[in-house]
Amino acid sequence: MYDFIIIGGGIIGMSTAMQLIRTYPDRKMLLVEKESGPAHHQTGHNSGVIHAGVYYTPGSLKARFCLEGNRATKAFCDTHGIAYDECGKLLVATNDVEMQRMQALWERTEANGLERHWLSSAELKEREPNITGVGGIFVPSSGIVNYARVTEAMADEFQRLGGEIRYATEVTGLEERAQEVVVKTRQGDFTGRYLLSCSGLMADRVVRMLGLDPGFTICPFRGEYYLLPEKHNRIVNHLIYPIPDPSMPFLGVHLTRMIDGTVTVGPNAVLAFKREGYRKTDISVGDLARMFTNPGILKVLKANLKPGLHEMKNSLFKGGYLEEVRKYCPSITKADLGAYPAGVRAQAVSRDGKLVDDFLFVNTRRTINVCNAPSPAATSAIPIGAHIVEKVRAQVA
Ligand SMILES: Cc1cc2nc3c(=O)[nH]c(=O)nc-3n(C[C@H](O)[C@H](O)[C@H](O)COP(=O)(O)OP(=O)(O)OC[C@H]3O[C@@H](n4cnc5c(N)ncnc54)[C@H](O)[C@@H]3O)c2cc1C
Repeated sequence: MYDFIIIGGGIIGMSTAMQLIRTYPDRKMLLVEKESGPAHHQTGHNSGVIHAGVYYTPGSLKARFCLEGNRATKAFCDTHGIAYDECGKLLVATNDVEMQRMQALWERTEANGLERHWLSSAELKEREPNITGVGGIFVPSSGIVNYARVTEAMADEFQRLGGEIRYATEVTGLEERAQEVVVKTRQGDFTGRYLLSCSGLMADRVVRMLGLDPGFTICPFRGEYYLLPEKHNRIVNHLIYPIPDPSMPFLGVHLTRMIDGTVTVGPNAVLAFKREGYRKTDISVGDLARMFTNPGILKVLKANLKPGLHEMKNSLFKGGYLEEVRKYCPSITKADLGAYPAGVRAQAVSRDGKLVDDFLFVNTRRTINVCNAPSPAATSAIPIGAHIVEKVRAQVA
C-alpha cells in the first residue's frame, strides 16, 4: 500500500511528486507513467520558453504561478546545473492596431508586476537589426531551457528521496474506496491512500475512470514549428513575439532561440485529429468521433471557424505561415523553413463551449486531478506542484 500514487511523468507530475516527497519524507510514494521515460508528451514537445507572465489576467492563478515559476525554474536550474539563458523577450508591433494592443499589454505587464521597457522603432532596430516593427516591449526576465532536462532532474530528486517511478505503466482503471484508491494498470493493480493525477492530454479520461463526469473535454491542438538553418542561429538576440489579438492570445508564431543554439519559428494551433498525434497524418477514428460529437468542442469550432481555417491553411501551405513571420522578420525565406517536430497542447473545453483559460482541478475525497495545465504550465510547474501539495495538506488528515 502506497501513501500517494501520482499519475503522469510530465513536468507537472514530476514537480508535484518531488515537492510531495520533500513535504512527507516518510511516506511511501509511487509515480506511474505510461511511456518509457519522462516528458514524452507536452513537456518534451514545447517551445522551451521560461515565460515572464505578460498576457495573463492580473490576479489569476496563471499570472501568479507564471511570475513565481519564472524565478523558481531558474533557481531549480541553478541548483541542478541545468543550462538556461535569460535572453529576454521582445513583443513587436508592426502596425497601428498592434501599437494600440501593445499599449494594453504594457498596462497588463505593469499590473502583473513585470520589469519591462518600451522601445521605439529605432531602439527596436538597435536591439534586433533583423526585426522590423513600429515599436516594441522588451521583457528581460523571459528565458529558454530544455524542459525535458528539468523534468528528468525532478524525477532524479524524487527517486533520491525514496520515491518509486514505474515507466511503461499505463493506468487503465481507478476505483476510489472509503480508505484507499485502487489504480489498475497493465502491469497490475496498486493501492494508495491518495491519488494525484497529472495526465495532460488524457486528463478527462482519467477523471472518467473515477466514475465522474468531468464537465469538460480535452481538445488537442497541434503546434507546428519550423527549424531555421544553422546560418540563422544568430538571426535574433531575444525571443521575438508578435502582438497577439486579445481575443486569440495563443495565436501568433514567434521566433524562438532554443537552448541548443538553434532558432525555431512557431507554433501555430491546429486541431489535432488524434490526442498525442504528432504528425499531420496521425488520425484516430475514436478520438475524432468523440470530438465531433462533443457539444462543447463543436461550439468552440463554430465560434472560431475563421481563425481555425486560417491556421489550417497555414499548416498545409508554407507560404501562409511564412507571411506571418515575415511581418516582423522579412529576411526569412521559404527555403529557410526546415522540418521540426510538432507538439500537441491539451486544452480543456467546457460543456458550454469555452476554452478553459486558467488551471483547473477536479477533486474528490481521496484524489486531486489536474485537468487543465496549458502554457505556461512548464514555466509554472514548480508553483503548481506546491499548490497541489497545499491541497494535499488540507485534505490529508
Ligand atoms: C506546442 C507547445 C508549446 C508550448 N510552449 C511552452 C513554453 O514555451 N513554455 C511553457 O511554460 N509552456 C509551454 N507549453 C505548455 C507546457 O508544455 C505544458 O503546459 C506542460 O508541459 C504540461 O505538463 P503536464 O505534465 O501537465 O503534461 P504532459 O507533459 O503531457 O504529461 C502528462 C503525462 O501523463 C501521462 N499519462 C497520461 N495518461 C496516462 C495514463 N493513463 N497512465 C499513465 N500515464 C499517463 C502521459 O504519458 C504524459 O507523460 C507548450 C505546450 C505545447 C504543446
